[in-house]
Amino acid sequence: MRTGTEKHVLGLSGGRDSAALAIYMRQHHPELEIEYFFTDTGKELPEVYEFLGRLEGFLGKPILRLNPDRDFDFWLKQLNNYLPSPQARWCTRKLKIHPFEKWVYPMIDEGATVYSYVAIRSDEEYREGYSSKSDSLVVKLPLKDAGIDKAGVIELLDGAGLGLPAYYSWRTRSGCTFCFFQQKIEWVRLKERHPDAFEEAKTYEKTAVEHGSPFTWSQGESLEQLEKPERIEQIKRDYEKRLTRLRSNTQINPLRPDHEPLDIDELYGQTKVCLACHK
Ligand code: SF4
Repeated sequence: MRTGTEKHVLGLSGGRDSAALAIYMRQHHPELEIEYFFTDTGKELPEVYEFLGRLEGFLGKPILRLNPDRDFDFWLKQLNNYLPSPQARWCTRKLKIHPFEKWVYPMIDEGATVYSYVAIRSDEEYREGYSSKSDSLVVKLPLKDAGIDKAGVIELLDGAGLGLPAYYSWRTRSGCTFCFFQQKIEWVRLKERHPDAFEEAKTYEKTAVEHGSPFTWSQGESLEQLEKPERIEQIKRDYEKRLTRLRSNTQINPLRPDHEPLDIDELYGQTKVCLACHK
């Protein structure tokens, strides 16, 4: 690669915002030769792969799969079976960020400037993400710069005929099936939609607790406790209550009355997500 070469990369998470960004770039910057990539933890929902497949159809080119050389099980064992958590988020580092860096830094070492397009919307703050360790890795935020908010993202997806990823009917973030950022209602729904993935998460948790891990997947209780019928009922009731309250406090935009479905995190007041996994 010659010094002075420019490369353009765009990471897809299998989620709504990064897919909308890919559509936006295709429509507004067709002159750029963008390499689309997806860092695959091996623990993704089947709906993610299905959505990526449809997106590839729209983009007319394959999305590169970046696989970590060591998988989740390897790192879990290395880390004494301690589950990842918001306080110790080794999963993102090992399974998302390192594979990206391993792919992108050789380009920089060969003299390229790499532009990395990240899906931050205009209605969000840019808190953390692929913070660049090199002047030759330049982070760009085209959705934010173009004033595209959540409703704008949905319009882009609808306009391209893609719509939302199928998991949005029960979960509003992409990422690992067992991501600890999930709300309790999402665990309940994971159990209902993907019982095998829920069982796998339970097994990981059991081993972790046996090895002294201070973390369970969901704060304050194990999945075995969470899946008790009376607890599930309680979680569902709490969810409905929050939904009713938020709906009654939300003003409908008359220009876009059908848009902006409520995200689960909005109900629980969680706004911090991992850009590498969930956008
Ligand atoms: S989706 Fe969640 S569990 Fe998976 S790598 Fe990201 S933060 Fe970790």
